[in-house]
Amino acid sequence: MRVRMTRKWAAPAVAAAAAVVATMVVNPTPGASASAPQSAAKSKAPAAKNVIFINGDGMGSAAREAARLHLAGLYGQLTMDKLAASGQLTTTPDDPKSVITDSAAAATAWATGEKTYNGAISVDVDGNKLATLGAQAKANGKATGLVTTAQVTDASPAAFFANTANRSAQDEIARQYIEVSKPDVILGGGEDWWLPKGTPGAFADKPAEDTSEGSVGTKGNLINKAKNKGYTYVNSAKQLDKAKGSKLLGLFANEEMFQQRPEGQGDVYSPVVDLPTMTDKALSTLSKNKKGFFLMVEEEGTDEFAHSNNGARVLQSMQQLEKTVAIARAYVATHPDTLLVVTGDHETGGLSVEEATDTADESGDGISREDGPFSIRGSDRTFVIDWTTSGHTSVDVPVTASGPLSAEFSGKHPNTYVHDVLARILAPRG
Ligand SMILES: [Zn+2]
Repeated sequence: MRVRMTRKWAAPAVAAAAAVVATMVVNPTPGASASAPQSAAKSKAPAAKNVIFINGDGMGSAAREAARLHLAGLYGQLTMDKLAASGQLTTTPDDPKSVITDSAAAATAWATGEKTYNGAISVDVDGNKLATLGAQAKANGKATGLVTTAQVTDASPAAFFANTANRSAQDEIARQYIEVSKPDVILGGGEDWWLPKGTPGAFADKPAEDTSEGSVGTKGNLINKAKNKGYTYVNSAKQLDKAKGSKLLGLFANEEMFQQRPEGQGDVYSPVVDLPTMTDKALSTLSKNKKGFFLMVEEEGTDEFAHSNNGARVLQSMQQLEKTVAIARAYVATHPDTLLVVTGDHETGGLSVEEATDTADESGDGISREDGPFSIRGSDRTFVIDWTTSGHTSVDVPVTASGPLSAEFSGKHPNTYVHDVLARILAPRG
């Protein structure tokens, strides 16, 4: 911005030119003029101790815009867009077979600072284990936690707390949680991976809403192992509310905490415990640690319903994510030593926001098409969502942040840059 202003002032007018010279004397180079105020601000900012990192899985700019219209109105603003700093991330993986990232490679970039192949959980392109921010934060005395509406062992949280060559090894990821990386708070779905076949647990095998669900673990009864290692295990909202321990394992569904389907074909989004409630509990549990904490939070419905081109459920998921960001933002307001970052791992659906009158299907394949109309808050007007794919796309994802180091997120960076900023708090060198 400073450079642009200088260009504008460097117009033919003599007085303007003199002003530029005066500026140049004080700040000999544009770089110096840009960095000086920043470093002054840095020295005044409270030392960073905690990190809350929130992933709207599959959440690109258009998903945020659709949610803005639907939840905040024509001229309203989402809480996630009120954060102090804003930038963009590119998401390309290091994969000979793919140009577009999956959640595993993207989360590995965040958690380790390394680009890798799709499906990799914090291993490099040769399969070597990489140090993860979750494990490093723990080694530095911080409490750690993960909260998600997906399986707790799904790719995005897994990359922060486990290393495997294949994201589908979710029982191995669960084993590593309780035996290796030991996050203090684990809340979400995915009970099927914690129990051996034939042990249904709190959530019945082959439930009516999805008969393919059932326990499939090959690592023994990991819920019992977790209890033996000091975790308080809960599987309902009531139990979660009452739980007092500093180590918490909450499993609230066989798989995802919702049913991913196209609209009207058995799609369900009504988690046993909602994401804001899980996040609130995680914060109150982790914040007891004097050396600070790292909390990874994820809304998965934003991705999976976009795969089904289900705009109504994407917007419902976005609403839960918004409520969650509001809780995190309120925490930062009273704990200024906390960095809050909100982003997405990639865009899903090739979503765009169009006039409600635009009902022609430009994308043509009959699957991905206009969806809606959806209401605009405080208005009698509507919009439609147009889908162009049922997969991921390579468009940039927005990143917003507040708290210490948040200014670092302005500009456009590769997704590995998230790691580099978070590491300054969670895994400082020397
Ligand atoms: Zn996806």
